[in-house]
Amino acid sequence: MPTYKVVIVGAGPAGYFTAQALQNSQTDDLSFQIDMIERLPTPWGLVRSGVAPDHPKIKTVSKVFEKIAKEPNFRLFANVEVGKDVSIKELREKYDAVVLSTGSAIGRKLGIPGEDLPNSLSAAQFVPWYNAHPDYTEVEVDLSGDTAVVIGAGNVAMDVARMLALDPTELDPTDTATHALVKLHQSNIRTVIICGRRGPEHASFTSPELRDLLKLEKTDVYFDLNEIEKAQVRVEAAGEVERELRNNLEAMRLIAEHEKKGVARKLVITFLATPLEMKGSGKIEEVVFGINQVEADDKITSTNKTFSVKCSLVISAIGYEVREFAGVPVENGRITNIGGKVEHNLYVVGWAKRGPNGVIGTNKSDAADVVDLLISELKEPKNTNGLSDLLKSNHEVIDQAGWEKINASEILSGEPHGKPRIKEVDWKALVSLGRA
Ligand SMILES: Cc1cc2nc3c(=O)[nH]c(=O)nc-3n(C[C@H](O)[C@H](O)[C@H](O)COP(=O)(O)OP(=O)(O)OC[C@H]3O[C@@H](n4cnc5c(N)ncnc54)[C@H](O)[C@@H]3O)c2cc1C
Repeated sequence: MPTYKVVIVGAGPAGYFTAQALQNSQTDDLSFQIDMIERLPTPWGLVRSGVAPDHPKIKTVSKVFEKIAKEPNFRLFANVEVGKDVSIKELREKYDAVVLSTGSAIGRKLGIPGEDLPNSLSAAQFVPWYNAHPDYTEVEVDLSGDTAVVIGAGNVAMDVARMLALDPTELDPTDTATHALVKLHQSNIRTVIICGRRGPEHASFTSPELRDLLKLEKTDVYFDLNEIEKAQVRVEAAGEVERELRNNLEAMRLIAEHEKKGVARKLVITFLATPLEMKGSGKIEEVVFGINQVEADDKITSTNKTFSVKCSLVISAIGYEVREFAGVPVENGRITNIGGKVEHNLYVVGWAKRGPNGVIGTNKSDAADVVDLLISELKEPKNTNGLSDLLKSNHEVIDQAGWEKINASEILSGEPHGKPRIKEVDWKALVSLGRA
């Protein structure tokens, strides 16, 4: 029976679902040895470093990942970076197939004047900062002012805004990074304004994220009822309305009508505003927006009117792009591919393939499709030792057993504080926990 060696680069959801699809495709005549490489000492990708700490249920998908990792044909090689410790070219020589599941971690830029002022950050910096990603512990976040602006109208923008608008005591029982929790407790931010460029009907919030806003106990949430009703009229006039969109607008209307508690913490969601310029001397002080309108053909046009918001912190959450690798083509922020195929024996899945869209589950069907294609293109299996031939003999790999030690240690540290875990943020400390 032929055993093919497949290496998956990136231990996020797309990587694990690729491994699962390979495991599920095994038959009496076909088997796989799966090696998964991860640059961090810890796996799970954005389930660890992206998903908001106040949404712990979402993170339970990690149980599925751990089940996949327990299969005898799976090996984890964490603390190994492709492009630095080993090249794609080398992997393609040693494996029958290479699957890139490296995600997209670079925040898209707005490209407007003042965007690089201090305290104007990207969600690609702010999110991993509060989620204890070891590369982002030093991000300078100043929460001393009272107003923050979040640019973007998707779930990432909503997560970021919620993290800033929640009472920090609500984050105490979560796995928010300790350094971030300390800062959030000292935060003076009381008003967080989300600004979307298009209308309420174009926002890419999902209904569960919107419905969750009604559960916030210490923050009042504001949508402009008039703006939501106008959007509802526009979509009804345009023809059949998709269920998801109808639900979203209904959720926004419910929140707009919901009685406010009169608390100091406010989360305001506004639409039809394009950021034109950020101003400030030495740090961000103001964002100037152009006011847009929705035309009859659903196009967004500028009204040439502007308004400005005084603020001390801006987070832009307008999407992500892939980090480039030597020898891998990139187009529009994604790895160039056709149905997941990049080149001979090189495939891509997840956000690196599709761009930053969809929920965690979207990566499952996507990975299964790419695995079908990969299997259909397999030739004679290679006879090599895979990664072991490629890494320097003194390279400190964190394998599945090492990761389980880190995991157990973090969970144990969290227990006395009623937290699911306290994440270690120091790279070297993580490696030494994995070694212990
Ligand atoms: C802030 C935020 C919140 C989210 N919240 C939710 C939510 O609540 N619910 C939901 O369903 N979805 C959520 N998502 C979406 C979800 O996280 C993604 O769909 C999913 O993580 C994409 O999986 P991926 O494997 O493609 O990428 P990732 O999860 O980014 O995984 C990529 C992995 O590749 C590794 N890697 C990168 N480069 C290299 C390299 N050179 N060598 C080795 N390894 C490398 C990275 O370290 C990372 O571990 C959220 C996303 C973000 C950004």
